[in-house]
Amino acid sequence: MSTRSLQLPKYSIGVGDRFSLQGKAQLQACVAALQQGVEVIPVWNKSNREHNMIGSEPSQTRRAAQLAVEMSEWTRPYFLDADHIGLETVGRFIEPCDFFTIDVAEKIGVAADLGSVNEFTNRHPELLEEISVGPLGLSLKANREQIDNLARKYLTAVSEAGKIHRCIEELKGAGQFVSEISMDETDLPQGPIELMVILAAVADEKIPIQTIAPKFTGQFNKGVDFRGDVEAFTRELSSDLAVLAHAIRKYDLPDNLKLSIHSGSDKFSLYAHIRDAIQSAGAGLHLKTAGTTWLEEVTGLARAGGIGLNIAKEIYAQAREQIEELCKPYAAVVEIDREHLPLPSEVNGWTSQQYVDALQHDQSCKAYNLNLRQLLHVSFKIAAQMGDRFLDAVKSNEEIIARGVTANLFERHIRPVFL
Ligand SMILES: [Zn+2]
Repeated sequence: MSTRSLQLPKYSIGVGDRFSLQGKAQLQACVAALQQGVEVIPVWNKSNREHNMIGSEPSQTRRAAQLAVEMSEWTRPYFLDADHIGLETVGRFIEPCDFFTIDVAEKIGVAADLGSVNEFTNRHPELLEEISVGPLGLSLKANREQIDNLARKYLTAVSEAGKIHRCIEELKGAGQFVSEISMDETDLPQGPIELMVILAAVADEKIPIQTIAPKFTGQFNKGVDFRGDVEAFTRELSSDLAVLAHAIRKYDLPDNLKLSIHSGSDKFSLYAHIRDAIQSAGAGLHLKTAGTTWLEEVTGLARAGGIGLNIAKEIYAQAREQIEELCKPYAAVVEIDREHLPLPSEVNGWTSQQYVDALQHDQSCKAYNLNLRQLLHVSFKIAAQMGDRFLDAVKSNEEIIARGVTANLFERHIRPVFL
């Protein structure tokens, strides 16, 4: 790889800013990390779906990011991620973005033809060798049938990723952007052997990916903690890190290639384990978060009281009414127990403190309600429809909201994972 090509540094955090008003506050979390001696690079991510729901354009995200960087005098790199794009949606992201999350989850399981499967497995006899996967003394060993099956399952998806990568490359130029392949939005997790096969196929396609986002074991719901077997996740993560290091050597993939965890934000019970795993492997990490900042905007409005609190209540009331439609696009990553959602009439009577206690992600607080939190997480469309009324309320409570945005990203995400 050319040394002049754009490189994603070792630690990075994906931050979403639905309404492009919190860039500076988000960046302050990276500034705080740097002051403590750790560089964590901000990557502003926003998917096509989010742009559509809000009615925004990637070029606006670029301007907001630039402004935040200038105001904060941030001299380290920063990136703009075209999150979860495909061939049909990449167009408007080409110019403003320099990081592309190539989503090929839809092509997983579209069976590759027998000829390409055979060719692949013949070309990669090393996939049948035993691989030791690091500190736990574990090893991986697959047989020919397994590799054939995985090739049949994943080759079409990887070849699609190749097409998308080359399409971006033609328009932006080689080395002018970072490529990530994401396979997280699918039903079944990809374990270490799957990852090995996928990386061999990625190398065959000559895609110089710098991050890869597999689907991990367990449930990564939006804006709430991990639900699943923490130990199983941790074992899988360590094996994945070992597989990545192995694949970089074996296939001459970019040596800064790292895992991207599409966390859905707020996976507090995993963060210490993630830190231990990356530190003991000496690995980098991209931690993608997104809606946690939008929830800080709602929390800040509620905390501010007055008009802010009223708007937060209105968002909840409408969200409760439109729950079906709002949850639909996120069916795989929200789990709301409707019986435990408060009635809007009840919420309308809440004080600032009651609203904040229910929404804020503090599991030690009895009033915390993860059902309400998930519902509000997917309700940014309602705020978008409020237009200036919402935006003006956020702007006039800038200080209180910014404080929450920075503290949330730094104290609850960056510090436990990277510091
Ligand atoms: Zn994702």
